[in-house]
Amino acid sequence: MTSLFKTFYGKISLIFLGLLFLLGTVQIIISVQSSLNFVCETDQTINRDLAQNLAGEFQPFLQDTIDYAAIENIIHNLMVMNPRVEIYLTDARGNLEVFFADPEKIKLKTINTIPIKAFLQKKDKKAFPIMGDDPKTEDRKKVFSAAEIQLRPGEKGYLYIILGSELYDNAISGVGGSYILSTTAFTFGVILIFGGILGSVLFFNLTKRLRHMTHVVKEFEKGNYEQRIELSSNDEVGQLSNAFNRMAEKINLSMDELRKNDSLRRELIANISHDLRSPLASIQGYIETILMKDESMSPGQRRKFLETVLTSVTNLNLLVMELFELSKLDAMQTKPQPEPFSIAELLQDVVLKFQPQAENKQINLITKIPTKLPMVIGDIGMMDRVLSNLIDNAIRYTELNGKVVISLSENDNKVNVKVSDTGEGIPEEDLPFIFGRLFRVEKSRSKNSGGSGLGLAIVKKIIEAHNSTITVKSELNIGTTFLFTLDKYQISPVKVKV
Ligand code: ADP
Repeated sequence: MTSLFKTFYGKISLIFLGLLFLLGTVQIIISVQSSLNFVCETDQTINRDLAQNLAGEFQPFLQDTIDYAAIENIIHNLMVMNPRVEIYLTDARGNLEVFFADPEKIKLKTINTIPIKAFLQKKDKKAFPIMGDDPKTEDRKKVFSAAEIQLRPGEKGYLYIILGSELYDNAISGVGGSYILSTTAFTFGVILIFGGILGSVLFFNLTKRLRHMTHVVKEFEKGNYEQRIELSSNDEVGQLSNAFNRMAEKINLSMDELRKNDSLRRELIANISHDLRSPLASIQGYIETILMKDESMSPGQRRKFLETVLTSVTNLNLLVMELFELSKLDAMQTKPQPEPFSIAELLQDVVLKFQPQAENKQINLITKIPTKLPMVIGDIGMMDRVLSNLIDNAIRYTELNGKVVISLSENDNKVNVKVSDTGEGIPEEDLPFIFGRLFRVEKSRSKNSGGSGLGLAIVKKIIEAHNSTITVKSELNIGTTFLFTLDKYQISPVKVKV
């Protein structure tokens, strides 16, 4: 039971019942109070002229002197006939002159005349009930009827009649058993029971969706990542459910990404280990041989061995440097420093650098540059690296007497850079992977050519850092074309103050 009140459902049900109870109690108090007011008002309205009518009875005994005995007698008779009234005669200041009661019971010798005057002036019964002093109590006010009377010659006074005193007293003191209270309490009890049952059912239904949400979130926490909350409305709970579903979707996507990255990392480490192991094994082998056959080896042989060792060390060095470069690009430690430059000039410099390599393979290295090519914006050093990698690859994977063409062109606000060769091409199934790390179409190729398998991954990273993309088209034994674009340098108009 106590655990029920710890739940959200239990708490709002309890608050609802508490409020119902509070409102019911206020309602009972207001009902009883207004009913009593109504009784007083009716009593005063009905008996409005009572004092006026009775005044005539007293007047004969109020001549030069007040005939106390006769008046007390009249009062006594009247009070016997109508026990609901208490009759008093007062002077103009409200001092009691005549009454019929045990003097000890009279607590007030003077009553306030303001309510009496108000009563006498009020023609409008809406002002009722007007409450006046009850001489028998010091603090309680009661309804009354009053009339002006000639107390002595030349001295006015009041006939003051307390109405329904017993009724009023009973209504107040016996309120517990009164009809008003029991009726109101009964109505309240019915409302409380039905309201309570109805409220509990409604709240149970309302909180059902929250319980469902809690269940789904707990399942998700346990690792059941496919769990989603069913959406049934667009209210606050619906919006929260929707937000959870979207969050779960994102978490799933991130986890997929993490898993993918993790497997890529494992693959990369395996590939790196492999790429490091082969040259290291060859270096070790050659050095051991040199040491073992030190005496019997001719200087020419030794030189040949040492040259092979040097090539392996150079390749290793290249691999490590490129890995380092890629990891810096990955971690955004190396960011492009964009500046305007002439891509045509840069291309000519790079082509000049690769000319000897091309000539060695009798490859025709051609550039196609339009005469008026605008400057581009980018990091010159990085672009040098991109062009060098692409041209290096093109020469490396093109047979003797082939052709490598690098053409520049412009459209809209871009400059296109295209590197094409007539080389061996890349199989279609390998095309999606060539920008991956340490990917080589044929493992044997790299051994012959010395490529690290990281060049295109670095190229892609650099192009992406320039907010651009690189695409590749290739046909086996026909050739390969790489294409990327760079932003033209736009000279922003200088504002001249006149
Ligand atoms: P590598 O250092 O091995 O050249 P890259 O990342 O530069 O590494 O290239 C990845 C692979 O893509 C290469 O091993 C090669 O198989 C293939 N490749 C790249 N450029 C060309 C090209 N122009 N022609 C044919 N194959 C290419």
